[in-house]
Amino acid sequence: MLEILNLSVAYGRNEALRKVNLKVEEGKIVTVLGANGAGKSTLLNAILGMVKPRDGQILLGRDDITLASPSERVARGIVLVPEGRRILITMTIEENLMLGAHLRKDHAAVKQELDAIYARFPNLAERRHMAAACLSGGEQQMLAIGRALLARPRLIMLDEPSLGLSPLFVAKLFELLREINRDGLTVLLVEQNTGKALANAHYAAVLELGQVVMAGEPAVLAADPRLQEAYLGRA
Ligand code: ATP
Repeated sequence: MLEILNLSVAYGRNEALRKVNLKVEEGKIVTVLGANGAGKSTLLNAILGMVKPRDGQILLGRDDITLASPSERVARGIVLVPEGRRILITMTIEENLMLGAHLRKDHAAVKQELDAIYARFPNLAERRHMAAACLSGGEQQMLAIGRALLARPRLIMLDEPSLGLSPLFVAKLFELLREINRDGLTVLLVEQNTGKALANAHYAAVLELGQVVMAGEPAVLAADPRLQEAYLGRA
C-alpha cells in the first residue's frame, strides 16, 4: 500500500532521515522503533507531507505522492494521530471528533460512524458535549484515534500513542489497534514501547540516527540480542 524509497530528510545540516526504505503492506500493522531523536516523527511527518524530503520517493499504491500536499494525502486516506494527541481541550469532545471529518461531504455516513465511535468508547459518549479537558490522558488518546477514524482512512499512522498512558490504557490501546486493523485498516505505528509494539505488529523496523538498522518479523527482531540490549532492557 505504502512504499518509502531511499527517503532522506534534512533540517538544515541535520540529517534526520538517511535513505530510508520501508514497505507498509495493506492490512498489516507495521511498527517503527527507535530511541528519541532517531527520526521516527520525521518519517511520519514526511509521509503526511508536513516535511519535504531532500531525496527519495513515497508511493501510495501505484501513485507517487512525494510532492502531494498534506490535504491531498488525507483525502487519499492517510491520517496521522500526532505525538501528544493535539486535542483542543477547550472544545467539546464531539467538536474534536468532528474535526476528523472536516473534508467529508457524506454527512449521513459521518453521523453513523460517529455513533459507532461512541458505541466503542462509552466514556466519550457520556461526555460528548463537555470540554475535552475533562478527559484523562488515556481517554484523550482514544479521542485522538476516534477523530482520525472519522477521516475514514486506509492508513492510520500513530506517533507514540502509548506515551504517558497507564498500563491499563496501554493494553486497551493495543487491543483497539488490533481491532481497527481487523476491520481492514492498515496501521503504521511509531513506538518507544518496544515490547508491546513487537507483540502486536506484523512487521517491524528499527531506526537509528535516521537509518533503518534492522527490519523484519517482530518475533525475529525480539529475539535479536542487539535489539534486546538496546530497547528491551535485557542486556
Ligand atoms: P522523538 O521520539 O523525540 O520524537 P524521533 O525519533 O521522532 O524522536 P525526530 O523528532 O524525527 O525523532 O527527530 C530526528 C532528528 O531531527 C533529531 O536530531 C531532531 O533533533 C531533528 N529535528 C526534528 N524536528 C526538527 C525541526 N523541526 N527542526 C530541526 N531539527 C529537527
